[in-house]
Amino acid sequence: MCGIVGYIGKNKKAKDVVIKGLERLEYRGYDSAGIAFVDNNKLIIQKEKGRISNLKNVVDFNNKANVAIGHTRWATHGIPNKDNAHPHRCGKITIVHNGIIENYMELKKELENVGYVFKSETDTEVACALLDYLYKKNNENIKNTIKQFQKLTKGAYALGMLCDDDLNSLYAIKKNSPLIIGTNNNENYIASDVPAILDFTNKYIVLDDGEFAKITSDSINVYNKNGNMVNKEIKTFDGSAEDINKNRYDHYMLKEIHEQPEVTKKMIDAYIDNENNSFISDMPDLSKYKNITIVACGSAMHAGLIGKSLIEEYGNIQVNVETASEFRYKKLFIDKDTLVIAISQSGETADTLEAVKIANDSGCDTLGIINVNGSSIARNTSKVLYTKAGPEIAVATTKAYSAQVTLLSFIAYNLAKNSKDINEIKEIQKFLTDLNKLPILMQKILDNEEEYRQIAGSIYNNNDIFFIGRGIDYALCMEGSLKLKEISYIHSEAYPAGELKHGTISLIENGTPVIGIVTDKKIADKTISNIKEVKSRGANVIYVTTDNLVKDGDFYDTKVTIPKTNTLLQPLLTIIPLQLIAYHVAKLNNCDIDKPKNLAKSVTVE
Ligand code: GLU
Repeated sequence: MCGIVGYIGKNKKAKDVVIKGLERLEYRGYDSAGIAFVDNNKLIIQKEKGRISNLKNVVDFNNKANVAIGHTRWATHGIPNKDNAHPHRCGKITIVHNGIIENYMELKKELENVGYVFKSETDTEVACALLDYLYKKNNENIKNTIKQFQKLTKGAYALGMLCDDDLNSLYAIKKNSPLIIGTNNNENYIASDVPAILDFTNKYIVLDDGEFAKITSDSINVYNKNGNMVNKEIKTFDGSAEDINKNRYDHYMLKEIHEQPEVTKKMIDAYIDNENNSFISDMPDLSKYKNITIVACGSAMHAGLIGKSLIEEYGNIQVNVETASEFRYKKLFIDKDTLVIAISQSGETADTLEAVKIANDSGCDTLGIINVNGSSIARNTSKVLYTKAGPEIAVATTKAYSAQVTLLSFIAYNLAKNSKDINEIKEIQKFLTDLNKLPILMQKILDNEEEYRQIAGSIYNNNDIFFIGRGIDYALCMEGSLKLKEISYIHSEAYPAGELKHGTISLIENGTPVIGIVTDKKIADKTISNIKEVKSRGANVIYVTTDNLVKDGDFYDTKVTIPKTNTLLQPLLTIIPLQLIAYHVAKLNNCDIDKPKNLAKSVTVE
């Protein structure tokens, strides 16, 4: 979480660059923000609780500082307040930090014993004091200081650092949290993510774990953990500043929902050879694996549940879906015959990354389904399939989620078409034709936005909203429910439709909204029976179904009919009304849709 930006250069005002970059990174954390800059060879720190706009009110933009580091925080240790906000300063060292220093309590005691006094509750201030202590102990040799710091600390850190003795250099240190260095003529940058600096440059270097860098306005020297200089590739970011603007939309989330047809087209172009009816790139053949384990968190885990349903049904391989944070600490039944698929938009999700490392150590092949090129999970998996969603800024994922589902449907189709038993099934034979039609069908649903806004208007005042469905529709319910609660703060639960009467149905009262999803023909009647059960207890039923299954009757209050497509692709249509209902419920409740409270994108802490 949290965003770090730093600038050192001859061309620009460092404060302008850092504040602009922090605004670009605000999706990563936004409970407090701060900046350190060099004025007349003196270091000045300004911080404020709350959004970056609060910090902007106190920053003097006339100052021509050409070195600055800044931070937008997502608190892990200590409440969001001014004292706990970054940058932190001890002696001659000033830092901004993303991550958690796990052994900070022990380090704090030792540092207190040698006279350090702490002003904040953060692990970051301890890291800062440790750096200052080691700097003095190492006769002010910064390289040795960093090397020792890396040995003594446990956990995760991306650090931007300034040292009073050399304010013409900026330092970057990385382990288990993302950090890139941007570069341009006579100016260099550090940032948690490339979009932070995309207004200024698209050339960047990815720091690897254990590496640190000394950066001046015209040089970047990167060292490994032994202090030896390493050559780093300068990459070019595939995307522009335009991609990360809201354009005509009120919110990034709405823009990203509307980008889904475009993303699907990009996925088709990237993966499908329409002339030869096959995959363009080397789509991995997964038929050799006895089973698959999917590790992921949040919406990516929900995409995994759709993948499980499709791969088991059409690919004939058993799939387990594990929440990455649980997978790490349980007894595992994986071996070389298991493929572990890690799904993450950012490719930096700490729990998923650690799960990948465990899978690698267990001798499994690993496959990443990732949006951000060259991210940590992409670099740690044996093979990567990239979703082509482009930068996703809204904290609540939409287009990246559907791109993950698209790739999982490709995997299921690829397995099915090579299998004699099922390649005769109509769905499989028509897959590519239906896939090519999908963007148009998505657009049709998006064009009905007013219908979903009206549904939102009928439910936004409620305290509890339920989603019910069976099979793959239940997996969609989980994502629809998460979308709604994370941005609107309304309590919501997803339930397998048949399970409701084993307890949860007692929560249904007159007018309780229940969104019932029915897209699977095999179990449509069963789900409708369950919908009738809640309707007869007073629920306000919103019935979401496909045009081939739609039924009339008095078991619903509002009906949403979406086009029927290939069963392997249906979830990609069904999710859109759920995303739009969630969006409009949050909007009607005046919520901060792109930056919901307490949340941050790219969860880089455990
Ligand atoms: N652990 C640090 C803190 O609580 C950094 C959190 C972050 O990554 O924003 O201040």
